[in-house]
Amino acid sequence: MREVDVAIVGGGIAGIVAATKLIESGRDVLVLDKSKSVGGRLATRRINGGRADHGAQFFTVRTDQFQQLVDQWEQNGWVSKWYGENHARYKSMNGMNQLVKHIASEVPVHLSYKLDRIERDGDFYTLVSDEGNVVKARTVLLTPPAPQSLELLQSSDIQLSEYAIQSLSRIVFQPALVGLITLNEEVATTLPNSGHQDADLPDGIERMVDSYSKGISKERVISIYATSELSKSLYKEEDEVILGELLSRVSSFINSEHTASSQLKRWRYAQAEEVHSAPTLWVSERESIVVAGDAFLRNDDQSGRTRIESAVLSGLAAAKELNDR
Ligand SMILES: Cc1cc2nc3c(=O)[nH]c(=O)nc-3n(C[C@H](O)[C@H](O)[C@H](O)COP(=O)(O)OP(=O)(O)OC[C@H]3O[C@@H](n4cnc5c(N)ncnc54)[C@H](O)[C@@H]3O)c2cc1C
Repeated sequence: MREVDVAIVGGGIAGIVAATKLIESGRDVLVLDKSKSVGGRLATRRINGGRADHGAQFFTVRTDQFQQLVDQWEQNGWVSKWYGENHARYKSMNGMNQLVKHIASEVPVHLSYKLDRIERDGDFYTLVSDEGNVVKARTVLLTPPAPQSLELLQSSDIQLSEYAIQSLSRIVFQPALVGLITLNEEVATTLPNSGHQDADLPDGIERMVDSYSKGISKERVISIYATSELSKSLYKEEDEVILGELLSRVSSFINSEHTASSQLKRWRYAQAEEVHSAPTLWVSERESIVVAGDAFLRNDDQSGRTRIESAVLSGLAAAKELNDR
């Protein structure tokens, strides 16, 4: 059984950034993630000889604190400006997932570990996975999408304050459906040179991205993002039905005769429409358990939007609070 100072649940960008800061301060940290790779919603899929981002496509920078990190990532050659003259959109080289893998290179991570519940055990917490694997930690940082963190806390043997329950219950996420389409080799699209289009799109389509023009894929893979309204209304349909609907809506961009393959990504929790207005949330005064992630916005954040920057700032705030405690 592994025993650590801080267990971080979630190897998305919030959890990984928090881990790097805690390790810098000499803390013994272990990140637990249910997936086969770190990254969370910074997700990249390989398809045949190509690859495509199918979660976040880019990030923007509104704060000096995040800009300092991004400058470092740019110097390391991990990210570059993609498009947007006045308000840069940054992409990660070789796909968004790769950025988190770079940041996590020195972080101990236990993958394929789905946390089922937390039990109190004297000065320690026992974290039990769905397969019965156990990790012990003095402190826990939870970074799954907030509704999943609430679910985990409610099935755990710990004291949750009324304030924490109410705050977490108020955070509401929208789903997202993303179609990934490969085309017959010789076919071009009418997307802009950057490969990104988020205006003048058919009803129900939020954005389209060509990963070849984006510069992250040797082969053309098109990511088609449904709006949250369309995603909600189609979410329970079969993959084929959803893909058929997406392709018929974008027929002015992609002739279905040129489609070589299609697959679907479903995000149950994509972006939040209701957020928490503080960068972290302690579950109660008695417990050393803190919740963070993209839905925990600094109270000076005017945007109200869950995004990569809000996830990073929340992860940094959680690490600082854990260090100060
Ligand atoms: C379709 C889509 C498009 C987006 N577009 C953009 C964009 O263009 N720009 C932008 O800035 N942001 C965008 N976002 C939002 C952005 O991706 C997120 O805000 C950010 O990645 C969240 O990071 P996080 O670390 O808070 O959470 P996550 O990335 O969700 O990380 C949470 C991690 O927790 C793990 N986990 C969950 N439950 C458990 C459990 N029980 N046990 C163990 N591990 C668990 C998950 O596997 C995951 O790795 C988009 C998101 C989606 C889905």
